[in-house]
Amino acid sequence: MRKVGIGLDIGGTNSVAAAVSEDGKIFKKEIRRTPSKKEPRIIIKSIVDLLRFIKEWSLNKRFEIVGIGLGLPGLIDFTTGVVEILPNFPKMKGFPIIDELKKYFSYKLRYENDASAALLGEYRFGAGKGVDDLICFTLGTGIGGAVLIDGKLLRGPEGFAGELGHITLDPDGPLCGCGNRGCLEASASASAIVRRAKEIISEGKIKTSLSNYLERGEELNASIVAQEANKGDLLAQKVYEEAGKWLGIAIGSLANIFNVHLFLVGGGIANAGDILFNPMKDEAFKRALPGIRDKIEIKKFKLGEDAGIIGASSLVFFND
Ligand SMILES: [Zn+2]
Repeated sequence: MRKVGIGLDIGGTNSVAAAVSEDGKIFKKEIRRTPSKKEPRIIIKSIVDLLRFIKEWSLNKRFEIVGIGLGLPGLIDFTTGVVEILPNFPKMKGFPIIDELKKYFSYKLRYENDASAALLGEYRFGAGKGVDDLICFTLGTGIGGAVLIDGKLLRGPEGFAGELGHITLDPDGPLCGCGNRGCLEASASASAIVRRAKEIISEGKIKTSLSNYLERGEELNASIVAQEANKGDLLAQKVYEEAGKWLGIAIGSLANIFNVHLFLVGGGIANAGDILFNPMKDEAFKRALPGIRDKIEIKKFKLGEDAGIIGASSLVFFND
């Protein structure tokens, strides 16, 4: 019988579930809205419905379901399975999400932070295949991070390690969602890019095509800024250059700390291309020590937006 793992990548806006083979091939994928601001029981119901949909599909196709692997967007205590913090799910703090899901499914259930799941996807089937030491960033509304050393995820006692988005880079910098100032996330996430673009527009010093969007009453987002930057808009380019520099500063320090060569960058913003990656590479090279800097490689995810779901499903096929 052919085997599948059911992967679930829970997001603040949408959640994705998929039936995935042992070698990382997606057979069926379903995307649904997440009622993230609602009560825990409503969130759990939507997760259970989504998982059941993929379960039924898999059983109808006569697949053997090996288990369910979850990628969770925040901190879940590995010793208890209780939510410490899911930033986009204000009512989930303290909720025993893992015990609750076990009531509905008898399959093996495994979970990781969503950035760790994405790292495992890229390590097992993508741009990091065969590289036992690597670091990932997922750039979205926030910034997720994960660290792999000697082929093992760096977890720490509760599983909270790898929160690279909350490295403090500028003590007096912009306010971060975590309550601190000047975190990487507050300077290089999709939301930071939009905020920064609006700030520079309001200074009025650089002429920009982005003003046209605002005049038409359209909301700016990070992909619009990337699109205009790639068409040659100077303000949009400046915004991406700044974000790339902040990421490069973080990468240079991380290379010094961990002696990791390969850094993988995923999430929507990574599609911006050289306007983001060139300043990132330059800055990482400047900040890393001699002997380390020449070995740094910074690449985009190969599995794109599927890295998380493929990595989450792979949890059920591996025993680490
Ligand atoms: Zn922070």
